[in-house]
Amino acid sequence: MIEELTIFDTFAVKSKNMKQQIINSDFKLGVLGGGQLGKMMALAAGNWHLPLHILDKEKSFPAGLFTPYFTAGDFKNYDDVYAFGKNMDVLTIEIEHVNTEALHQLEKEGVKVHPAPAVLDTIKDKGLQKQFYAKKNIPTAPFRLFADKAAILEAVEEGTLAYPFVQKSRTAGYDGKGVAVIKDAGQTDKIMDTPSMVEDLVDIDKELAVIVARNEAGQVISYPVVDMEFNPDANLVEWLVCPAEISEDIAQKADQLAKEVIEAFDCCGLLAVELFLTKSQEILVNEVAPRPHNSGHHTIDSCYTSQFEQHVRAVLNMPLGSTKMKCPSIMVNLLGAPEHTGHASYEGLDECLAMEGVNLHLYGKTTTKPFRKMGHATVVADDLATAKSQARKVKDIFRIVAS
Ligand code: ADP
Repeated sequence: MIEELTIFDTFAVKSKNMKQQIINSDFKLGVLGGGQLGKMMALAAGNWHLPLHILDKEKSFPAGLFTPYFTAGDFKNYDDVYAFGKNMDVLTIEIEHVNTEALHQLEKEGVKVHPAPAVLDTIKDKGLQKQFYAKKNIPTAPFRLFADKAAILEAVEEGTLAYPFVQKSRTAGYDGKGVAVIKDAGQTDKIMDTPSMVEDLVDIDKELAVIVARNEAGQVISYPVVDMEFNPDANLVEWLVCPAEISEDIAQKADQLAKEVIEAFDCCGLLAVELFLTKSQEILVNEVAPRPHNSGHHTIDSCYTSQFEQHVRAVLNMPLGSTKMKCPSIMVNLLGAPEHTGHASYEGLDECLAMEGVNLHLYGKTTTKPFRKMGHATVVADDLATAKSQARKVKDIFRIVAS
């Protein structure tokens, strides 16, 4: 007689030499980082009653309220990561700037780490990341590596480096910090004195992103291409359009490229692939993030499976969920108002809650700062034009100020 399989058998994994059930068990999925991404991952895993174990500095951080298993510690510190990870069955991240030495050791000792520490080592360093693309023939803007500001100026002097160029700090950057566009000799004071990756200034038509997921079984699935529009003052995504307003041909090429990139990294979990569509309609990889990403927040409200649930599925080697779009959407980052630093309060909350198709996601950060990511809103509608008009209203009405 064939035994009937239960849902729990379907999700069973081999772990620590025994077949262990993930759901309704003491299975431990650990996450390094307890910010908004950790919080939204915890909420998604909560659908299956799977608690997340989270390591970050303070329980008052966004994810702290959504798991009883919060460990206070520094994910950049070897001892903290090792001690936390030792008790986990599977370990993942919400931020790539974690202590990978500890992750390598944990991996040796049998803890499953997704994304793999070697992948994180490559991605954390923009220089190594670009060298990886060059080695794997993945299209990316031409680049060179420099030890410091003096070396950059020397190359300019010698005539081997020409203006304009984009300087990126190899290891210290995020959200546009650590990126400097140097247009001409009059802007040399903007050059950072740090180990850098310097690349050609790309003539950008659109900034696109594709989130792709892969599990240990080798299943790969991608989300519809999105179009990111940046706030030029804050250098943050402030408006994201799904689906991207691009031709079917470009969408297919972007999708294909993202899948090639995740295969090249041989990585499990999500990979957010940020792309530049150039004015000559070439697609270049800008950078990747091996985790849930700002460019996938809309999936909570507008796709069959959210990026957060997908990441959990992928790192636990579960079947991946459908990425089909339920409806068009616009995602708006809700940033701290300029010139406001202090205890956060929200203006326009009632009006936004009353609007059709507006889904507010607030991260619970108590202190607001100019352009700090305090939340996001996903506006869904039957068509993009309606979603855009509603999103414009949200941007006008909703403000995060210091009270
Ligand atoms: P971060 O990791 O801090 O987000 P990015 O590499 O994504 O840094 O750069 C931030 C933004 O700067 C990009 O979204 C894009 O608008 C602009 N940018 C980055 N690289 C280039 C480039 N080579 N040419 C033109 N603009 C660029």
